[in-house]
Amino acid sequence: MRILITNDDGVTSVGLLTLAEIFSKRHDVLVVAPESEQSATGHAITVRMPIWVKRVKVFEHIPVYATTGTPADCVKLGVEVIGEKNIDLVVSGINFGYNLGTDIVYSGTVSGAIEGALLGIPSLALSAPANEDFDYKTAAEFSLRFIEEFDLSLIEKFTALNLNFPPGQIKGWKVTRQSARRYADRFEARVDPLGNTYYWMYGDVIEDDERSDCDYIVVKQGYVSVTPITVFMTNERLLNRLREAAKREEDKIARRSCAQEEG
Ligand code: MN
Repeated sequence: MRILITNDDGVTSVGLLTLAEIFSKRHDVLVVAPESEQSATGHAITVRMPIWVKRVKVFEHIPVYATTGTPADCVKLGVEVIGEKNIDLVVSGINFGYNLGTDIVYSGTVSGAIEGALLGIPSLALSAPANEDFDYKTAAEFSLRFIEEFDLSLIEKFTALNLNFPPGQIKGWKVTRQSARRYADRFEARVDPLGNTYYWMYGDVIEDDERSDCDYIVVKQGYVSVTPITVFMTNERLLNRLREAAKREEDKIARRSCAQEEG
């Protein structure tokens, strides 16, 4: 397969380079990634300024391009220009840090995969715990087996797979749904040397989604979580309820105008 690899941690990240090296043993790999870290930049794209691209020599056998763009920019450029519209699979990661629950909304890693999905290419986001000792090599080897054994044609249009690795030994993989895992925001106020107040944002994780097929629960059990995610954000349940409410409203207005005519 011709595989485009990107990430949001930047082109020098161990997760990305390990993945590229392992995938290149059996596939044709192209790396297009941000030159510096772009974590939590979501699905931003660069349209009001140029995107600089330079080829960097990391491996003898893998072309690697560093860009000033976001992960979504990198995938667009990688697929449409550098990869000459000849990419079979887009893989984003392996990210330093999980992308579970509401992380998906902010994640540059996941947006890299979503961009691939928007371009009609099977796409995966790969994320690992934020742990310096994480075994990226084992995770990359698992990923290589996964892309070869999993029927990638099952991935529907506009849809990507979001994978999260467990911290220790991998027991296997499980299909999951996105959880409601989220954060309680905290802002620490500090003062700069000139006397100006600035804030440092961080958060305490909230894990109160008890559905057994949730992404974070499966990861805690030692499995790779595999969640199919899509770009469509319409809430079908609420859509139907709103339709019913709109219908009731229409009926009320019709009855009122009927009563007026009769009166
Ligand atoms: Mn990141």
